[in-house]
Amino acid sequence: MADAPITQDVLTIPRKLPEGPVNLVGLTRPQLREALIAHGTPEKQAKMRVGQIWQWIYQWGVRDFDAMTNLSKLYRAQLAETFVIEIPEVVSKQVSVDGTRKWLVRIAGGHEVEVVYIPEEDRGTLCVSSQVGCTLTCSFCHTGTQKLVRNLTSAEIVGQVMMARDDLGEWPVPGAPKDETRLLSNIVLMGMGEPLYNFENVRDAMKICMDEEGIQLSRRRITLSTSGVVPEIARTADEIGCQLAVSFHATTDAVRDTLVPINKRWNIETLLAALKAYPRGRNSERITFEYVMLDGVNDTDADAHRLVALLDGIPAKVNLIPFNEWPGAPYKRSSNNRIRAFANIIYQAGYASPIRTPRGEDILAACGQLKSATERARKSRKQIAAEAGLTS
Ligand code: SAH
Ligand code: SF4
Repeated sequence: MADAPITQDVLTIPRKLPEGPVNLVGLTRPQLREALIAHGTPEKQAKMRVGQIWQWIYQWGVRDFDAMTNLSKLYRAQLAETFVIEIPEVVSKQVSVDGTRKWLVRIAGGHEVEVVYIPEEDRGTLCVSSQVGCTLTCSFCHTGTQKLVRNLTSAEIVGQVMMARDDLGEWPVPGAPKDETRLLSNIVLMGMGEPLYNFENVRDAMKICMDEEGIQLSRRRITLSTSGVVPEIARTADEIGCQLAVSFHATTDAVRDTLVPINKRWNIETLLAALKAYPRGRNSERITFEYVMLDGVNDTDADAHRLVALLDGIPAKVNLIPFNEWPGAPYKRSSNNRIRAFANIIYQAGYASPIRTPRGEDILAACGQLKSATERARKSRKQIAAEAGLTS
């Protein structure tokens, strides 16, 4: 079997297009300052203007310069000539019987990505995409079968959060009493794409989400999931500081090679070494090991015992994900009994091992089912099976 490709060219688009207005969304505070100065804001005023505009955009969700009433009319008009405040456009929205919402949003170039909101009793989680498609061809993942890949800009990443707040009606109204209940209380970077292959844009977008004068989400409420891009793991702690989840999925290199092909580049031992070095937090900051339950592939008792042995020395919890099927998928979900038995072995060894309840299955919003409608040029069943090592 030929090795599945690990990387391919990723299209990147410049932060600002050479012509046309500059989008203020997604700029860091220093970048916003630079942009304002470059377009005529006196340096002396720049700090104050950054603070004011930032609050309008990220605290109040305002997109119209004219509504920024603490700026002079003239300055507002000047801003409107040079800048835009733009987020991805919603193409369609589906609501599942379980309340999960899935939006298809359009970004520059006509590409589309999916964003999912999962309401739970004590929280509301937004599952955000970091790329159109994914270069990593994990054999059980629908996104991995999509050929075209482009990194999202920081504007397009934070824009997904802003779009969801629009739809949830969650921007506060200036002057109104502060509402403590947040519908959108958590973010998981578990949508389409490998976030650590788009590090800077993901970092800048998440920093904006955490900013005290804006969306104000705590770093503890943001979880980045990686398939195991080892060289970027330490940077995630240093430069973003969010929670980390790792798509582990197998307990031997032989099996992980077929499920998560990036394992051929950074194998289990290398990955675990990077995770051991990840700054240990309190118990609440354990690393989440995601483990998809595939019938007859990675779900035996022996796998569970091996997993426990591998976790030794890492503050970890294990999140078991019942496989979500998609058309042409070469796997089946493990039975409920098997999943429970597997979870129990891990639990007995002292690790939390929740089983993730599939959400929004009726609208194909569950983990690994995301794939935009315009880019459904699917690989054939045969090709998928071959890459999974299921055929000779
Ligand atoms: N690229 C990143 C984040 C996106 S995937 C990563 O791989 O970690 C989010 C999670 O869903 C990952 O753990 C991924 O392995 C898992 N997943 C992908 N396809 C799935 C499927 N069909 N069923 C269940 N989980 C799946
Ligand atoms: Fe990419 Fe993650 Fe899907 Fe693998 S599981 S193909 S890394 S999105």
